[in-house]
This record gives sequence, structure tokens and C-alpha cells, in this order.
Amino acid sequence: MSVITLLIASSNAGKAREMQAALQGLSITVKSLREMATADCPAEDSDTFIGNARLKALHYAGLCDDWTLADDSGLAVDALGGDPGVHSARFAGNGAKDSDNNAKLLHELAGTPAEARTAHFVCALVLAHQEQILAEVEGRVDGVILTSARGENGFGYDPLFFVPELGKTTAEMSAEQKNKISHRGQAVSAMKAKMKPLLQGLGR
Ligand code: IMP
Repeated sequence: MSVITLLIASSNAGKAREMQAALQGLSITVKSLREMATADCPAEDSDTFIGNARLKALHYAGLCDDWTLADDSGLAVDALGGDPGVHSARFAGNGAKDSDNNAKLLHELAGTPAEARTAHFVCALVLAHQEQILAEVEGRVDGVILTSARGENGFGYDPLFFVPELGKTTAEMSAEQKNKISHRGQAVSAMKAKMKPLLQGLGR
């Protein structure tokens, strides 16, 4: 019986490693985009996280015969009508650094009172094989946007994203602690739970 190969279609090596670690225990072998012959990537032009994850999963699944797992994630701020949303990586413009995006976020929320600074991170994951979607999940973590940065860990908006239940920003958490509560951690657990019966159905 051949083993299922799973392509983790994330160009971010850190995220791909995190997902690989979280999927341990499944009867699969994992490969990364770096092992694909093509550097071709699809336009992420959906206005939803799940839509972009679907675009990526179907694109890469169409280039190989492996199961393909694609993600899309970002920050949705209630006072900004859900922005930066699917534009999270380039909120301050194409090629923006995390510090530029965080500065823009603080600027846009200037004058917004504490109780109205609610936000959530979302992570959508889609599993596809050839032209078929096998499973989709979303993970979410709620928090509030601080008025100044706290913490050195993580990336992106982590220094501004405060989780009241833990009394810390996601940049003040260890990687392990963040994985337990994060949108990505929750989405990967939910995807793992959906993959188990799919693999069992194939006798794995
Ligand atoms: P993507 O999933 O690589 O498209 O990520 C989009 C952007 O969302 C990232 O560049 C970050 O700005 C933001 N983002 C996604 N997940 C996180 C997180 O866990 N912490 C902080 N920022 C995040």
C-alpha cells in the first residue's frame, strides 16, 4: 500500500514547519513547495480567507498528484469593518514590513476606545486532491488591539494583539503557548481530525 504524500502549499517555511509538526501521527509523508519543480503561484484575489486557501489548494493540487494543504490567514479588526482582512500582509502597501503594517493599524485606530478595539485572527485551511476539495476548516482567536507594541516573539501583528484570557499579547507567548490558542493551531487540529477518517477510508 503506497503512503499518501501531503504537499504543504505554504511559501512561509515557518508556517509549513508548524503545520508539519502538528500533523505528526498521521500516516502521511509531507513535502514542501520547495520540492515542487514550479515556482508558479496563483493570484490570491478572493475577498475571503477560505476563498484564497481554496485558490491555492486547487492550483497546487492541479500541478501534482499529491494531497495538497493550503492556508490563508490574517487579522480582522471590528472597528475597521474587518480590515486588514485578506490584505493583512500588505496593509501598508506592497512589500510592507510588519512594522509598517503595525504602524498603519495604530494610526487607523487612533482615538478608538479600548472597548471598541476588538479583533480576531483567522486561519483557513483547505485540503485538495487533483480538482477536488477534500476538507475545509477555519480557526479563530479573539483579542483586542493595544495602543502600543508588547513582546518580542511571533511575527506580523502579534505585538499588538492582546488575548484578555491569558493577559498577554501573542508576541509575549512562547511558540508552544501561542500554538495552543492560535487560529492556526486550532485550524490545524481541526484539519487533522478531518484527515484521520479520510485516511482510514483509504485503509491507512
Ligand atoms: P498569510 O497567511 O501568509 O497570507 O498571512 C497574512 C498576514 O496576516 C501575515 O503577513 C501577518 O501580517 C498576518 N498574520 C497571520 N497570522 C498571524 C499571526 O499568527 N500573528 C500575527 N500576524 C499574523
